[in-house]
Amino acid sequence: MSNFNPPLEDIRFVLHELLDVPAIQALPGHGDTGPELIDAVLEEAGKFAAQVLAPLNRSGDTVGNQWHAGEVTTAPGFKEAYRQYCESGWNALPFPSQWGGQGLPAIVSSPVSELVMSANLSFSLCPMLTSGAVSALLLVGSDHLQKTFLPKMVAGSWTGTMNLTEPQAGSDLALVRTRAEPEGDHYRLHGQKIFITYGEQDFTDNIVHLVLARLPDAPEGVKGISLFVVPKFLVNADGSLGARNDVRCASLEHKLGIHASPTAVLNYGEKDGAIGYLVGEANHGLEYMFIMMNEARYFVGVQGIAISERALQQASAYAHERLQGKDLADPRGPTAPIARHPDVRRMLLTMRAITEANRSLSMTLAALLDQAHAGNAEALALAEFLIPIHKGWATEAANEVTSLGVQVHGGMGFIEETGAAQHLRDARITAIYEGTTAIQANDLIGRKTARDGGAVAKALAAQIRASIEAIGASEDADLKVIKTRLESALADFETCVAHVAGHFKSDMAAVHAGSVPYLQLSGLVCGGWQMARAAAVARRKLDAGQGDAGFHAAKLKTARFYADHLLTRVAGLKEIVLSGSSAVLDYPEERL
Ligand SMILES: Cc1cc2nc3c(=O)[nH]c(=O)nc-3n(C[C@H](O)[C@H](O)[C@H](O)COP(=O)(O)OP(=O)(O)OC[C@H]3O[C@@H](n4cnc5c(N)ncnc54)[C@H](O)[C@@H]3O)c2cc1C
Repeated sequence: MSNFNPPLEDIRFVLHELLDVPAIQALPGHGDTGPELIDAVLEEAGKFAAQVLAPLNRSGDTVGNQWHAGEVTTAPGFKEAYRQYCESGWNALPFPSQWGGQGLPAIVSSPVSELVMSANLSFSLCPMLTSGAVSALLLVGSDHLQKTFLPKMVAGSWTGTMNLTEPQAGSDLALVRTRAEPEGDHYRLHGQKIFITYGEQDFTDNIVHLVLARLPDAPEGVKGISLFVVPKFLVNADGSLGARNDVRCASLEHKLGIHASPTAVLNYGEKDGAIGYLVGEANHGLEYMFIMMNEARYFVGVQGIAISERALQQASAYAHERLQGKDLADPRGPTAPIARHPDVRRMLLTMRAITEANRSLSMTLAALLDQAHAGNAEALALAEFLIPIHKGWATEAANEVTSLGVQVHGGMGFIEETGAAQHLRDARITAIYEGTTAIQANDLIGRKTARDGGAVAKALAAQIRASIEAIGASEDADLKVIKTRLESALADFETCVAHVAGHFKSDMAAVHAGSVPYLQLSGLVCGGWQMARAAAVARRKLDAGQGDAGFHAAKLKTARFYADHLLTRVAGLKEIVLSGSSAVLDYPEERL
């Protein structure tokens, strides 16, 4: 039995009403992606997620993975689900047809991923990591590496991993110590990687590790890191599997959440050294890894939305069933469902407004990534600006949303069998891996805002202003408030952009003290932008008597709620960005 309802109506609304799907379809490389095909793909993905993956989510959490002598047995049902996932073609969806993929654009593969992640976050991590590794090989792998690994990885017969972290090197990858010694046409790697997602599994007969390591003569710091492909089993010239490589899973971590995703300690070179192949040029590894990380950061942001949706659905169902207290409008009447209490309504609407706003932003970002992929430099710059905002804010928001999900359940939320607690536990990691929120915020203030003097941020503000103007004059009371609040929040965003760009060099610590509030504020404004656009469409549809009136009326009210309850947070965050730093920096370190 599944308790997950794919949010297809909202996904289709964003796709068909807010994005320019024909323009994306016209980009090279996407083949036949007409609206009917897109809708059919989403429908099927929803069924697969709800019927195959969602029923395994709870048992995956309670049973988890087993480690024995370096081998891993994944949670019951996961191996079979993975086989079905690949056989149904889901793994190959976004990749070029040249390698056996289906070449669908990110505006389709992103909501498909959201559905898979909502149904089973632990499961979804495996294809997500493979996808990042495929992207890196597509862009910088040699012909030989591409031919050897891509067809199997695109089909999902072999999975991919991303090996950055070491005990002493987490956020700071300059500290990576794994060594790679040259030996003929390959290298021998020695070192330990920790926290490697799906670093070992029993889904497939080979695993392709992408590993950061240093050559013997490499310069210190990030400029001395190279990228290697290290397969679990070496591959013979005819493509068959050869000898077992010298990489072993020493243990699996016991974690707060995502219990069914194996998080491995990998030892490289306990014997002769693990055989690895250099990807691209030596000492450019981190640059290449950023290809994977950018994609992974985008998809971790989507994870935040996916888990928020799941928590929302569960809380909403409970709020309609659970009877406590009286309806304020009918104090003598029967005991009311808790959904009647204003505060429970507030919690459910906060969950819904955040989830829908962030979904719309993530799909808008997917459209930008599609355009960027086709060579549009402006779209690329905007996408690069938005990625840390989306990753940082959608995952921080997921922590808030899943915590509210527990709160809606009252005491039952704290009891594991209800399932609300799993969403909270699973969501927690999303704001940590692929760069913590602080690391996203550092990227946002430095590389993305200060480096170009705020130019891309200002271009984004101009787009948001154009959307406000496009709404035009309306007699609708909700739309009027939505516009006014967005205008005010946008002005606060612009003030903060000028502050960050203007003070980044002269007052670095102070700007860093406000970096996460700046990221949150940017996320809230971008969400408000999306909700304002959605509200305008909903109003038009209602006036024209088109489509599902219930959906459009709810969308308009959700946007109004977002304006009143979420956009109003922006003014407070602006104060923190502008003047909150001395309180942070002046406090004595020994008393922290
Ligand atoms: C379940 C799980 C799966 C993972 N999967 C993978 C994987 O597949 N591959 C992989 O390579 N890694 C993986 N990781 C590692 C993950 O990416 C790191 O844990 C994460 O990047 C943070 O690094 P750290 O744990 O060393 O924390 P630290 O870097 O020690 O950070 C500790 C705290 O200090 C803050 N901090 C650190 N530096 C700065 C700074 N410059 N400015 C402001 N604040 C800072 C952080 O924000 C954080 O709050 C995984 C981790 C977990 C738990």
